[in-house]
Amino acid sequence: MDGERAFSNRMEQAVRDALDEALAYHPDACRCERCRRDITALALRSLPARYAGSSAGTVIVDVELQRLQSRLEIFKALHRAILEVKSRPHHARPD
Ligand SMILES: [Zn+2]
Repeated sequence: MDGERAFSNRMEQAVRDALDEALAYHPDACRCERCRRDITALALRSLPARYAGSSAGTVIVDVELQRLQSRLEIFKALHRAILEVKSRPHHARPD
């Protein structure tokens, strides 16, 4: 379980690291904390299952995250999430 938790933390960090870069392609997207959280959560949910349920150790995860394909998948997931949040922003709704 610890390995899985470490994995999702690393994945979440990788998505957070890529968020600002992805937002640069969407100058009209909202950048408030609520929207950033929504975008990150949506992107994480849409990433391939092999990231979520993997029993691989963190060393393998690090290698995986450094692969270009993985970074592209993170970017694609972020772009989809940004478009989704942009079309239906939650920041106007009460929590
Ligand atoms: Zn917002």
